[in-house]
Amino acid sequence: MSKKELTCIVCPNGCQLEAMLENSDSGSLQITEITGHLCEKGPEWAEQELTHPVRTVISNILVESGDLPLVSVRTDAPVPRNMIFDVMKEIKAAKTKAPVAIGQILIKHPAGTGCNIIATKNVRNV
Ligand code: SF4
Repeated sequence: MSKKELTCIVCPNGCQLEAMLENSDSGSLQITEITGHLCEKGPEWAEQELTHPVRTVISNILVESGDLPLVSVRTDAPVPRNMIFDVMKEIKAAKTKAPVAIGQILIKHPAGTGCNIIATKNVRNV
């Protein structure tokens, strides 16, 4: 039996959660109890964080012929934490041409993930 402390990031309350973990017969970790949450979103988030952590990736992509040199982008869905480096590598290698519209898909399924990289800003052509 072991204990893991986590800060819930679902809302600004930032509840300090404690998860009790146990090794199952198959060797995987099992969560036996989660405490410290003010609402039920906390245990759901903690379970995901401990078993399959995911993050939304936020970055920028170079733009050619735009009124701005970069466009801000993000993944349209969270990606597994262990894929973030590979996703960032594709974002850093990418270039696009103006105009760019908010919500436009700039990279489909980076690093084989099911998400897309979408623009979060408009960039006009110059
Ligand atoms: S447990 Fe609920 S109230 Fe606490 S930080 Fe998470 S979402 Fe917010």
